[in-house]
Amino acid sequence: MPNCEKCGFPLPEDAEYCPNCGAPVRRMHGSSRAALMSASRILQAGILGAFISVMISSLSPPGVQLYFIPSFVSSLLVMFLFRPRRFEDAIAISFTVYLFSDAILGGMIFGTLYIKGISLSEAYRGYMLTFLDVAAYVFNPVSALIAAYLGNKIALGMIGESGEYGGATEQYTPEEEPGGVIYSLKRHIHSHKV
Ligand SMILES: [Zn+2]
Repeated sequence: MPNCEKCGFPLPEDAEYCPNCGAPVRRMHGSSRAALMSASRILQAGILGAFISVMISSLSPPGVQLYFIPSFVSSLLVMFLFRPRRFEDAIAISFTVYLFSDAILGGMIFGTLYIKGISLSEAYRGYMLTFLDVAAYVFNPVSALIAAYLGNKIALGMIGESGEYGGATEQYTPEEEPGGVIYSLKRHIHSHKV
């Protein structure tokens, strides 16, 4: 049974405040639970990112090849929104974005050609692959990894690196301001510093 950090009073299982002194109870185990992203949430993030990526690709002017950039940008965007704390979750999100957006784009392009009755050779008539095409194709999965790494860094930067959300990394301190007392969120970032 946990004890109150302030007065040592034994705490009931679900106590949010100490019954003896009224101090708020910090829950360390809650942070590890929050750190895990469910598969459905990863899918949500991935599908949202894929649609954003397809939108960017569709809005780009004809003749302009963006390669991995739409998926890269939208991976970062959804990681900013969903904040995966674990690198594994970030990788799962970025790869979902890349795979789904390629699948959707492929479906759109093939579907359009099919409906209009245009053959593939006709659609790509005279198109010679450039070195950039090949290099971008090879770099594609690498850029997904980089997106996951950067997105994970962004997410951790916003919520505190250690993931101990319950107390150790953040504290609320009252601050005197001309308009009154405001409560500012102070982050202990010394754990990040090298
Ligand atoms: Zn207490």
